[in-house]
Amino acid sequence: IRSLALLRIENLTKRYKTGDTALKSVNLEVPKGQVLALIGPSGAGKSTLIRCVNRLVEPTEGNILLDDMELTTLGSGQLRKARRSMGMIFQEYALVERLSVMENVLSGRLGYVSFWRSFSRRFPQSDVTEAYRLLERVGLDHMADKRADELSGGQRQRVGICRALIQDPALLLVDEPTASLDPKTSRQIMRLICELCAERGLAAIINIHDVLLAQMFAKRIVGLQLGEVVYDGEPDGLTPDQLTLIYGEEDWEATIDKVEDEVSDAAAVESTEIVQ
Ligand code: ADP
Repeated sequence: IRSLALLRIENLTKRYKTGDTALKSVNLEVPKGQVLALIGPSGAGKSTLIRCVNRLVEPTEGNILLDDMELTTLGSGQLRKARRSMGMIFQEYALVERLSVMENVLSGRLGYVSFWRSFSRRFPQSDVTEAYRLLERVGLDHMADKRADELSGGQRQRVGICRALIQDPALLLVDEPTASLDPKTSRQIMRLICELCAERGLAAIINIHDVLLAQMFAKRIVGLQLGEVVYDGEPDGLTPDQLTLIYGEEDWEATIDKVEDEVSDAAAVESTEIVQ
């Protein structure tokens, strides 16, 4: 049976060996090109969910279909191939510090295989050209030869984004991309990820703890609480009651007003800004 969804998650359950049930029969469909923000408090299961999709975490039960291919039962060879269509962006960037920006981007061509085992330092010219193009797009082409450890947090995350995109994935899995960044840089990074997805028709699941950022940039929000989907809809539909259900007691009326202010601020200040 063919579906229109790029990614289809059915009754996904994850119980860790420790006995923690991180996901309880989660159902979720992501159409091609859709950017979805996955919100919820720490421990809700956000990270487990995206890691089940690329099988960095093994699901306990359920099905995960990417383009109608069942991922949960793939052997290691097929899994490696499937992972090429899933780019991953990490909270802590996961760059190789001693290597250059360019080398870090190119490492994305290697998929998830061990970096040191497979890094020959010889890449086809077409890969190098594409890496430059991506670095240019994120405003870092002038830093191609710098070592990763010379970069600021925002710049490092841009490199992480390029490394994920050079795989030419269909789906981006993004795990708390702004957790280590200041508020302004966080907005720039979220904006960049969403713009790149739109330019490339790329779907994304972005785990993001910060509701404000999620509401600013994603068209669909999925709220997780204790491993269950408790909200799935448009950002505007998130009421204070729903936020209370997801996050517990807080004054969400004030937060929502702040979102509206920030959205207009951010649009005014940053739309013309070239982000370095
Ligand atoms: P979030 O990303 O929303 O913070 P996680 O997916 O990291 O949530 O965690 C969900 C639940 O699973 C938590 O109760 C957490 O303690 C548990 N958990 C996460 N990773 C592991 C692990 N490797 N082993 C055991 N329990 C884990």
